[in-house]
Amino acid sequence: DPPPINADFYDISAKLSEEDRALQMKVRSFLETEIKPLVNKYWLRDEFPFEIIPKLRELNVCGYVYEGYGCAGGSSLMDGIIAAEFGRVDPSIATFLGVQSGLAMGSIYMCGSEEQKNEWLPQMQQLNKIGAFGLTEPLVGSATAGGLTTTCKRDGDKWVLNGQKKWIGNSTFSDITIIWARDLDDQQVKGFIVRKENPGFAVEKIKDKMALRIVQNGLITLTDCVVPESDRLPYANSFKDTAKVLQMTRAGVAWMAVGCARGAYENALDYTIKREQFGKPIASFQLIQNHLVEMLSNLTAMQTLVFRLSELQDDDKLKDEHASLAKVFCTLRMRDIVSKAREVMGGNGILLEYNVARFLADAEAIYSYEGTKEINSLIVGRSITGFSAFV
Ligand code: FAD
Repeated sequence: DPPPINADFYDISAKLSEEDRALQMKVRSFLETEIKPLVNKYWLRDEFPFEIIPKLRELNVCGYVYEGYGCAGGSSLMDGIIAAEFGRVDPSIATFLGVQSGLAMGSIYMCGSEEQKNEWLPQMQQLNKIGAFGLTEPLVGSATAGGLTTTCKRDGDKWVLNGQKKWIGNSTFSDITIIWARDLDDQQVKGFIVRKENPGFAVEKIKDKMALRIVQNGLITLTDCVVPESDRLPYANSFKDTAKVLQMTRAGVAWMAVGCARGAYENALDYTIKREQFGKPIASFQLIQNHLVEMLSNLTAMQTLVFRLSELQDDDKLKDEHASLAKVFCTLRMRDIVSKAREVMGGNGILLEYNVARFLADAEAIYSYEGTKEINSLIVGRSITGFSAFV
């Protein structure tokens, strides 16, 4: 009999407390039973499975790292492990949760007032209210740090927002979107909680994506969109504050990439053990074993890297360049692993039902969002050389 598939080769789980391991297993079995059976169908339809929201609420892992406001106050390490478990079963649902729990709740948690946190975080933790995060624009993707063209202008106790935001995950159905805009008066980037019913706020679904098809991405148009001063995030006063949110969420994306790679690896390994050619399992061929070992080596390197990344985060020592290095390394290796997983499965590797093709496609979006490989590399490059290649 073949040995059981073990994609935690260096036994990183052994570093977790019994309680944390139990949570990991609870999340894993939830995803296997409640999410896995749905994803290929919804992925193909380019739709979000709203029926999972009550189930996700029950699982109770949204906003896992935040203190108070109904959140668990858990470790960044466990938050990462949860993100990887989601990524292992479906990168789209992992992204949905990453936007809700990381980008949207994180912006309010890090940059919001007490009133705003009390109003939104408990409801978002419960998934009663859904959030989105609007930073990227149609003409400004990588250059958001200095180049945002969406503007805000104060008018008494209100603000008026104008511009467009592209690719905004969850925004087609979210109750609120965090909008980042440049203040026409002081030229600084400010953040706003924009409610879907705000006058001047419109969203159009981005159709026919070939990756993360379950994630609903929108093109937002703000036309003299009026937002009260009470919905401005008071601690978001320059792009540095936006970057603090991105630092946390990029660490989350690195973990998600580990999960995506793991899902593809496990499915591919299982396939090679069962599939026979020339009268033998293809897993018995040297060249196939070489592919599998390369995948496992990369996966193991990723797992150990993100483990230490989260230790830094939990010790409050995480820097932008740490998160960026992890995002670059893990998404690059993920891309390699999903492609090898496809390769060892031959033709079946491109069929959705064999559960690797979806990872292959989804990896392309994960590779590019939350800062491309180039942009995150330049963040690391700046920190090690002292030269900024952005300007
Ligand atoms: P561009 O900035 O046009 O870049 C094109 C290429 O040029 C890239 O390879 C890039 O690395 C390279 N490049 C650019 N500048 C440099 C440079 N100085 N040096 C070297 N190379 C450079 N954004 C949000 O705000 N909210 C979301 O919820 C969200 N969700 C997303 C979901 C998906 C599925 C996708 C695909 C994107 C999402 N994004 C979201 C946007 C995402 O963050 C951007 O796509 C990403 O930042 C890259 O921007 P861009 O696509 O405009 O590419």
